[in-house]
Amino acid sequence: MSRSVLVTGGNRGIGRAIAVAFLAAGDKVAVTTRNGEAPEGALGVRCDVTDPDSVEAAFAEVEEKHGPVEVLVANAGITRDTLLLRMSEDDWSSVIDTNLTGTFRVAKRAAKGMLRLRRGRIVLISSVVGLLGSAGQVNYAASKAGLVGMARSLARELGSRSITTNVVAPGFVETEMTAVLPEEKQAEYKAQIPLGRYADVDEVAAVVRWLASDEAAYITGAVIPVDGGLGMGH
Ligand code: NDP
Repeated sequence: MSRSVLVTGGNRGIGRAIAVAFLAAGDKVAVTTRNGEAPEGALGVRCDVTDPDSVEAAFAEVEEKHGPVEVLVANAGITRDTLLLRMSEDDWSSVIDTNLTGTFRVAKRAAKGMLRLRRGRIVLISSVVGLLGSAGQVNYAASKAGLVGMARSLARELGSRSITTNVVAPGFVETEMTAVLPEEKQAEYKAQIPLGRYADVDEVAAVVRWLASDEAAYITGAVIPVDGGLGMGH
């Protein structure tokens, strides 16, 4: 069955790989973009998740073209890394607004349609650092830990209508986000990962697609690590 899937931040990185995985499964896929292009075969809708009007307009367009969103993947996210004493109010609030409040905005809007349909899949992209913590990422780790509480509350609120909400917590993934890390930092991180390497974006996408499948119908409120063993189940 071809479902209406929406992936936020689907023009590059992990989000793009997730969109491609759903396209390969035959779903109708829309991705939000601020810049750049949607992958071939996907509908690109302009959306900034920090702007509620923009979120509303994006959902209206997806609903018009693909029908109500049945699978939401909240993937859009940013980092503004620096040590606590150097972290500005703006470093803090921009990361919280994008990663945590942005996810709240899209989950709320998607839930509206899913409640009517009495089915749905919500997958939030968190991070291993949300549970392990990370020096220099107080803002980012707080935003990603917040997604766990959000998902588990959504799981409780929406579960009776056959809507599942789960979290995928990647470790280090080969994307532009990790490419900017200095080489010695990258080597240091790889030494701590039992599998000794970063993930490929497709390895994250496969888990997201599976969580949205019928096979995962009885999984909700779960945090699934895709981190090469870095977090040891956390
Ligand atoms: P990228 O930086 O490659 O891509 C981020 C995506 O989010 C882009 O599409 C970007 O759009 C979009 N985005 C950022 N801000 C907004 C906004 N305000 N409104 C709409 N879209 C926005 O990151 P990754 O692919 O690496 O990361 C994707 C997700 O996975 C993030 O949530 C990240 O925190 C998480 N993650 C990544 C890990 C990694 O190692 N890479 C590890 C663990 C988690 P635009 O192109 O317009 O900037």
